[in-house]
Amino acid sequence: MSQENTKIDKESTATMEKIISLCKRRGFIYPGSEIYGGLAGVYDFGPLGFELLKNIKNSWWNSVLYQKENYFPIDSGMFKNPIVWEASGHTQGFSDPLSECRVCNTRIRVDKILESIHVTADEKMSEEEINILFDQNRDKIKCDKCGSKDFTPVKKFNLLVKSNLGDFTSSGSDPVYLPGEACQGIYLNYKNIVDTMHPKIPFGIAQIGKAFRNEIAPRNFLFRQREFEQADTQFFVKPNENKQAYKEIRDDRFNWYTSLGIKPENMRWKQHENLVFYASDAWDIEYNFPWGFDEIEGIHDRTNYDLTQHMEFSKVDLHYIDSGNNEKYIPWILETSMGVARVFLAVLCDAYYEDDLGGELRTVLKLDPSIAPYIACVSPLLKNKQELKDTARDVFMMLKKEFGNVAYDDNGNVGKRYRRQDEIGTPYCIVIDFDTTGSGTDVNPDLKNTVTIRHRDTGAQERVSIDELISFIRGK
Ligand code: ATP
Repeated sequence: MSQENTKIDKESTATMEKIISLCKRRGFIYPGSEIYGGLAGVYDFGPLGFELLKNIKNSWWNSVLYQKENYFPIDSGMFKNPIVWEASGHTQGFSDPLSECRVCNTRIRVDKILESIHVTADEKMSEEEINILFDQNRDKIKCDKCGSKDFTPVKKFNLLVKSNLGDFTSSGSDPVYLPGEACQGIYLNYKNIVDTMHPKIPFGIAQIGKAFRNEIAPRNFLFRQREFEQADTQFFVKPNENKQAYKEIRDDRFNWYTSLGIKPENMRWKQHENLVFYASDAWDIEYNFPWGFDEIEGIHDRTNYDLTQHMEFSKVDLHYIDSGNNEKYIPWILETSMGVARVFLAVLCDAYYEDDLGGELRTVLKLDPSIAPYIACVSPLLKNKQELKDTARDVFMMLKKEFGNVAYDDNGNVGKRYRRQDEIGTPYCIVIDFDTTGSGTDVNPDLKNTVTIRHRDTGAQERVSIDELISFIRGK
């Protein structure tokens, strides 16, 4: 194996500007409705973003469903009977503290601003409590946009997004809400799963679904959007049999992030100090984004609150009856809720490096091969030689049919192609040359039907026979 002269920087050098620019330039993320000037808090995933997102979701499904004994998947409708959001408490309590700059009308989310100056606050505080804290710290808070310190008193602002689904009167008096969180679909289908799948407790239900929130200040790119996806699991256990399972779920979730290639030193646990009244415990996994540690997943020990509420509001019996001993109870729930796009962003930040390879500065995404948008890129050494192009196309189609996400690139010279693939995290670049085809004068007959594989992280190159390419890549 030959190796380019490699000097790898140890530190990831991601900044938000660099990540955002790479995402746009290379087709990971586009601003939503861009040709109309965009829409705050909404983003579109481009071809490479689609692949990375899909790989992250597949890995999540694999870990929460296929590697587990007793989990069931669902895919519930987004719209729900409006009473669902009353039962869940969202119409009353799903609000963030809002204040507005009196000079330029910029809105701020007060709990996050207080946290940024190291004052403990959260969205669960009452309007009165957070106003007191805000007033005590007003001299330290100024408007990002105009610098003024003149803000309105704090008001709680409900985040639910309304629709007029099925309302033809235009009165707007009976809104059907878009989901404020995806997990309600799981509670609503708990009884269906029990009645149709007859699961033995403890069991889990998993779902990836959309959520919509009227976020006061969408910011930090994909981190705080108004439309986003949540990957949720709810694990149903016997009353008071929550502690051990809760610990196992927490460990499991943390390990999943490291299996994606995220460095453990860039993650940490944060326990909630201010628990909602029904919760037994709550922890968040945080990732060290360029602006600091922030939440990517919440793991909550929720007792029997959710099912009890839905039983009360729907008047449908949601007790679980143990078929062994006829014991009857409302299961307790352990919830995991992850923002898929926040993990997407964390993965990119963690994999982003700028290093010096063979005397040339490059940008490289050192993504784990299991989630890289393209597993390999195939190219002919020269694009004006038909025999090289033909073989490259054959190899490309062979790999594409096997792996799906394979790129073909014959633009520019090979060095430039390597840099382009480094920047999008392709682990293997495969080059078809004259030795492969055996055409031309100066070829090595021993290398016929072999290709060069170049490794992203080290620049090392080796020859592999075309027949063994698929098993070579699988083996890696
Ligand atoms: P935050 O305090 O950051 O607003 P939250 O505690 O309200 O988050 P949850 O309601 O627990 O978040 O949602 C579960 C997960 O959904 C979060 O851990 C996060 O990864 C994701 N999430 C929440 N809000 C957003 C958003 N506006 N944009 C993208 N992802 C989000």
